[in-house]
Amino acid sequence: MDLKQMNRLFKPQSIAVVGASNQVGKIGHTVVKNLLESQYDGKIYPINPKDAEVQGLKAYKSVLEVPEDIDSAVITVPASLVEQVVEECGKKGVGGLIIITSGFSEVGNRDLENRIVEIARRYGTRIQGPNIVGTMSNSNKMNASFGPFLPFPGKATLISQSGALLLAIDASTYTRGIGFDKLISIGNMSDIDFADCIDWLNEDEDTTCITLYIEGFKDGRKFIESSRVAKKPIIALKSGVSAHGAAAAASHTGSLAGAAKVYGAAFQQSGVVQASDLDNLFNRTLALSLQPPMKGDNLLIITNGGGVGVLATDAAEHSGMPLRFAPPELQTELKKHMPEFGSAKNPVDLTGMAGLEWYYDSIRYSFTHPWVDGICVLYCETAMTDPMEIARGVKQALDESGVKDKPIAVSMVGGERCTKAMRWLVDNGIPSYGAPDTAVNGMAALREYYRMQAMLKEPLETRREFDHEAAIKIIEHARADGRDSLTEIEAKQVFSVYGLNVTATHLATTEEEAVQLSTKIGYPVVMKIVSPDILHKSDAGGVKVNIKDEAAVRDAFRTIMTNAKAYRADARIHGIAIQEMAPWGTEVILGSVNDPTFGPTMMFGLGGIFVEVLKDVTFRVAPVSCGQAERMLGEIRGAPILMGVRGEKPRDRQALAETICAYSTMILDLADEISESDANPVLVYEEGKGVKVVDARIILKKK
Ligand code: ADP
Ligand code: MG
Repeated sequence: MDLKQMNRLFKPQSIAVVGASNQVGKIGHTVVKNLLESQYDGKIYPINPKDAEVQGLKAYKSVLEVPEDIDSAVITVPASLVEQVVEECGKKGVGGLIIITSGFSEVGNRDLENRIVEIARRYGTRIQGPNIVGTMSNSNKMNASFGPFLPFPGKATLISQSGALLLAIDASTYTRGIGFDKLISIGNMSDIDFADCIDWLNEDEDTTCITLYIEGFKDGRKFIESSRVAKKPIIALKSGVSAHGAAAAASHTGSLAGAAKVYGAAFQQSGVVQASDLDNLFNRTLALSLQPPMKGDNLLIITNGGGVGVLATDAAEHSGMPLRFAPPELQTELKKHMPEFGSAKNPVDLTGMAGLEWYYDSIRYSFTHPWVDGICVLYCETAMTDPMEIARGVKQALDESGVKDKPIAVSMVGGERCTKAMRWLVDNGIPSYGAPDTAVNGMAALREYYRMQAMLKEPLETRREFDHEAAIKIIEHARADGRDSLTEIEAKQVFSVYGLNVTATHLATTEEEAVQLSTKIGYPVVMKIVSPDILHKSDAGGVKVNIKDEAAVRDAFRTIMTNAKAYRADARIHGIAIQEMAPWGTEVILGSVNDPTFGPTMMFGLGGIFVEVLKDVTFRVAPVSCGQAERMLGEIRGAPILMGVRGEKPRDRQALAETICAYSTMILDLADEISESDANPVLVYEEGKGVKVVDARIILKKK
C-alpha cells in the first residue's frame, strides 16, 4: 500500500479546497472556515473560478494554477464536476482527495464513482469517500470537514462509514469526555477502505486505538489481513446485524452488509474487539486507548461500597472474567488498610470509611502483587471524602508503584464532584466511568484484546496433502452431466481427497449389484437413493439403515426405488448407494457457505433434526486452524455435550477439530467451485475413536 500518499492525505502540509466559497451556508464555505478556525498550520489554497479571494485567502481558478505542491484536496463541487477536478488534481500531483460530494454509488451512480477511481489510480492519487464529512485531526489542528469543531482530544482514531454518525459522535465526545485524535469519514470507500486506514494508523504515532463504525465491507479478507497484523487495539461496532438493519445499511452506502455471525467470526479471527452498541464502543475505546492489555484473568476490585462491588462482580462474570478470591497473603496485607468489618477477599471492600490513604495503600500494594492482572477502583461519593482527592490518590499510587503493564479503570458514582474528578483522571490517562459495570466492561475489552493477540500468535497452519486435480475431475464430471450439485457419493469422494473420514460408499444400479456390494462391505449396511434431483434423501423415503441380510437388501432396494419415483416422478436416478453402517455417535454438522464479503466460511453446530430451529452454530472464515476449530467447539451452547454429559465419555474433540480444519482447507482450495456444502451428520465418537462423515453434500457455483 502506498503509505506516502496516505500520509499526504491524512497529514497534509497543504490543502486545496475545491469549491471554496464566500457564501455562508455552502459546504465549500464551511470547510475553509473550519480549516481557519481549527488553526490548521499548513497552507490553504481555496479554488474558486470566480472570486479572487475566499475568506481573506488568495484563491485560484484551478489546482493547476497553484504554484506550490498540494498534498491533499477537499472536493465540495457538485458530482457532475468531480471527474474533471479529479483529473486536474491528478495532473497537479495531489496526494489524496477528500471527496465530500455525494451523488455516487450510494444513489446508484456506480459508473461515475468507478470513473473517478480510475482517473485517480492513473495518477497514483488516493481517494477518501466520496459522500463523506471529511477528516478532523487534533494532532494536525486540521478540521478538513463540514463538522462543527475538532473532537475532544484523545488518543483514539475513529473511522466511520456513516457521515451523519461521525458528526453526532464529534459533538458527543465533549459531553462524554472521551477523546479522539482523529475522526475520519470514509463513506462509499471507493478507494480507501477500513483496511487501508488500519494499515496507515498502525504507523501513526498519535493513535493508540483504532475505533471502527462499520456498515459493511466490500472485501472482508483484506480487512482480516490488515487487522491481524495491527500493532494496536482495534474495536469495531458493526451495524445492520438484524435482517431489517441489514437492508437499511445496504441502501445507505451501497455496500452489502453480511451476516452478523460471519462478521463476528471475522472479528474474532482478526483480533478485533467488538462493541455491542454505540455507548459500548465509546466506553471500550476509552479503556483501549489509555491502558495496556490485561494479561491474565485476575481482576481485583477495590471499593468503598458493597453495592457497587456486587454490580461490578456481576459485570465481571458477565464479561467472561469471573472474580476469584485474592490469595491469602494479599488479603492479609490488604486487611491492614481497612476497618475490622471490611473485606479483603475480592471485591476488596474498604468500607464507607475509606479515605484517600486506604485507597492509596491498597492500590499501590495490589498493583505490584504478581497475582493481580488488573484493578478496577470503585468509589461512591460520601460526605467525608472528596472525589478529587481520591482521584489524585489513585494516580499517585499508580505512578509510585512503577507498574506500567497492568491496566486500571475507575468508576465514581456520585454527582458533579465525581464528574470533575473523573475528567481529571481521564486527562491523566486513567479511564473512568460513571457506572461500575461499565468500568468492568472496559477492563474486559483490555482482556479480550490480550487474549486475541495471544491467539494470533498461534500458527495458521492448515495446509495438508491433497490432490487438487482429483477433486476438480469429480466436479467437472458432474458439470459435464449438466448438474450444479454433486451426489452424496461424489461429494464423499471430494471430501476424502482432503482427508475427511467418510463412510465407504458404492453405487449399485441393480438389485444384484446391491447384494454383491453389501456382502463386500459387510452387514449391516445403509442404503440411500442417489439422485441429483433429491437433495434431502430422508424426505423422499430414500434412506434405509441397519440392513442386516440379503433379503432385506432386496426389499430395501425396491422400496427406495418406489419411494423415489413417488416423491418425484421425473427424478434422474443414478442408483442406490450401499454404505457401511457407522456405529452410533454424537451427531454434529459441518458446513460451508461462500460468503459474499468474506468468501469461503465454515460452520459448525450440533447436528440432528433441530439444527435449523436451535441455530446453535458458529462460524469461521476459512482457513480455520486446529486451534481456532477447537474454539469453535467451545462456542456453541451445546458445547458440554461434546465434553460428555450424564456419564458419557468425552467425545473425540481433537479429531473433530482436525476435521474442521481439513474441511476448511477443502472449501478454500475449491473456492471457485463450491458454493455451499455440508456434512450432516458427522458422527463423533469417544476420545481416541475419531469421527465419521455419513452424509455429504456439495452445491457447485454456477458457471
Ligand atoms: P439426508 O440428510 O439426505 O436425509 P442422510 O444420509 O443424512 O440423509 O441420512 C439420514 C440419517 O440416517 C442420518 O442423519 C443418520 O442418522 C443416518 N445415517 C445415514 N447414513 C448412515 C450411515 N452410513 N451409518 C449410520 N447412520 C447413517
Ligand atoms: Mg443428512
